[in-house]
Order: sequence, then C-alpha cells, then structure tokens
Amino acid sequence: MANESKSIKKWNFKKANEELAQASATTIRGYVTMLLENLDKDDVRAAIPLSHGDPSAFPCFRTTSVAEDAVAKAVRSAKFNGYSPSDGIPPARIAVAEYLSKDLPEKLSPDDIYLTVGCNQAIEIILTVLARPNANILLPRPGFPYYEARAAFSNLEVRHFNLCPETGWEVDLDEVEALADENTVAIVVINPGNPCGNVYTYDHLKKVAETARKLGILLIADEVYDHLVFGSNPFVPMGVFGSITPIITLGSISKRWLVPGWRLGWFVTNDPNGILREQGIVDCIKGFLNISSDPATFIQVAQILGDTKEDFFLEKLKTLKLTADICYSKIKEIPCIICPSKPEGSMFVMVKLNLSLLDDIKDDVDFCVKLAKEESVMILPGIGVGLKNWLRVTFAIEPSSLEEGLERVKAFCGRHAKK
Ligand SMILES: *Cc1c(COP(=O)(O)O)cnc(C)c1O
Repeated sequence: MANESKSIKKWNFKKANEELAQASATTIRGYVTMLLENLDKDDVRAAIPLSHGDPSAFPCFRTTSVAEDAVAKAVRSAKFNGYSPSDGIPPARIAVAEYLSKDLPEKLSPDDIYLTVGCNQAIEIILTVLARPNANILLPRPGFPYYEARAAFSNLEVRHFNLCPETGWEVDLDEVEALADENTVAIVVINPGNPCGNVYTYDHLKKVAETARKLGILLIADEVYDHLVFGSNPFVPMGVFGSITPIITLGSISKRWLVPGWRLGWFVTNDPNGILREQGIVDCIKGFLNISSDPATFIQVAQILGDTKEDFFLEKLKTLKLTADICYSKIKEIPCIICPSKPEGSMFVMVKLNLSLLDDIKDDVDFCVKLAKEESVMILPGIGVGLKNWLRVTFAIEPSSLEEGLERVKAFCGRHAKK
C-alpha cells in the first residue's frame, strides 16, 4: 500500500495542472467569468455583454424557423434516436459538401467532410492529431485562445506570428517564414477574423497558401464566420487554393445560423491532389473520431444547410452591418480608444487603449474590471486574445443595447480621463 501511494505522488499532477489551469483561465470563457464576478450586483441597470460572441439571446439575432422546424421534425420522427456514425450521418455530410462546394472550383466529396461537436471539436481533432514530440504550430496574434489552450493540453509548442493593424490585420508572412523550422507542422488562419473583424482579399489568401506550400506545412483555415462579411471584400474560402497546398477547413453552423448551442461543426479536407490521404493524416483523423464523441444525431439535419433561404442571411447581415457601423462611430467619439480599421466581417473589432489619456487605469484588464464594476458593461481585455492594452468589442447585440453600452464606456472614460 505504502509503495503505491508513493508512486502516485511521483506523477506530480499539481505542476502539470497549474500549467493547464493557466491555459484554460486565459481563454475567453476564463476572462468572461472574471468580468461576471466583478459586476456590481446593486446596479439596477441591465448588464451589457460586449465581451463574447453569442448573439442568440437577442431577438434580432434569432435563427431561422427553417432550422428550428427541421430539428423539431427530426426529433418527432423517431429516426434520429440512434448513435451517429463517427464521421456524421451521410445526408448531413452530403449537405455540408454541397454547401461548401458552392464557393469552390472543384466539388468536395461527402468523404471530405467529418461532422464535429461545433468548430471547437474540429480544432481539438486537428491539434491532437498534429501533436508529437518537438512539434510546433504557428498561430495568429491576436487570435482565438482556444487554440493555445488545446495546444497546451496536447504539449504542442505554439509560435505566434503577428497580424498587422496597419494593413487590415494581414498576416506578416516574412515573420511566418522566420518562425517556421523543420518541426513546424501547421499554420492557422482565421478568416473572417475573430478578434479583428477583418476580411482577407483573394490575393492575400493566395500568398498565405503559397507560403504554406513553400514551408511544407499544413494550412488550417478557421472559417467559422464564413459569409459573415459586410464591407468591401467578399468572403473567399481558403479551399479555393487547395491545388496549391492541401487545406483543412474548420467551420460550424454556430455563427452564420446563430445557434452556437446546437454544437454542429465540421472538419473538411480540401485536397484535390490527395496529399493528406497519402501522408496518413486522414487515417489519424478517422482514428481520433472513433474514440471521441459525435454531435447529437437529431442535430445533423441536412435541411438546416439545404433549405435556409438567402433572405435570412441577408437580413442578419444587414443587422450586423448596422451594429458594426454603430460600434465604429460611437468608438470614434471616445478619445482614449483608437480603432485602426473598421470591422468588415465576423462580430468583433479590436481597438487600442491610449492609457496615457487615463488617470488611474493600469492596463486593459484593470480597465475592463473597473468598467464592469462601475458601468455594468463587459468588454474583453485584449490580453485575452494576445494583445495587451487592447480591447475586443463584440457588436453582435441588440442595436439599442450596443448604443447604451458604448455611451456608458464613454462616460467611464470621461470620468477616468486625465484632468
Ligand atoms: C466561435 C469560434 C469557434 C468555435 O465555434 P463553435 O462552433 O462554437 O465550436 C472557433 N473559432 C473561432 C475563431 C470562433 O470565433
């Protein structure tokens, strides 16, 4: 007995857990929890969440009845009560292949599609499959911290390349080349962008694909905000460049259909030259899917993707454009917050704090904690997405709440301004 407990002590879970606890505390959820804890319970005003991207609670961002009816019908049919195959039920894989193929030069096969528990599980799959001793992955800064946390749990080294605010948050490709070495397995590009609200041009995406080819690394395209664009650049899926280099596209219905709680996503191989299959990555992905959980069967209804009308998307885009405009113009009225580029996609914008204009604010976290306490407005500190002393603002909320929230931010900044 004594020997056994001794060997367990040797494992030193505490040290490993500290690192992992740190990785998960610094996710967006970790910071949102911190802000919630700092709200003033005696403030009679409603709290305004500009900190996380789940607009589903707001009436103007309700999903389409086409999707609601399809799921209700699936549940009542009693045909969706069984286990799902590990890569998803065939009609849903066909529907995703058709949905994505509309924007691609070569049609995807349903065999290229693996259905996942939201886009997050698609991230989990690829990072787990890529992790091996000494391997590293290139991630954008600012970025989506779920990647960093997942990489930490898989012992995958992260190297950050910068997105440049001066060039509409384009990838610094020279830096990417300088960071990569023989142990680099992949690069991640998020377009339309979270947290920056940028939309990349065809030319920039092509250069990214050519760089990945030159370096011989996998290109992972996080397109969870596909088609959520309302500026001058159209949405171009990275899969368009699949013949330059194999692309792994990650997505879900969470953002475009405004149902993040439904947990339906996908992992897609855009690989017309069959390189991923040849390299054995496809077998690894299938192996991982065999030992992980699947999205609920009744949520895998083909009609969500197949039957949703263009009107629905256009109406939601109109609302997003309106809220993005409100956000941009209100922020321009606040001297200590600088917005380098107007958001053209997704649901977010990154803005910079000018701390030299503020009196008693130490940094971005201090700003956000005091703002939550004094004004019941929650904004994500930039450090949560990798940029200290910046802020990430979500504009996908009811327009009137957004206006009120930003008025409160303005009042807060006025009160804390250097006299
Ligand atoms: C929301 C989000 C995800 C996760 O999507 P789910 O479908 O909710 O799991 C992944 N990547 C980015 C960039 C996101 O903003």
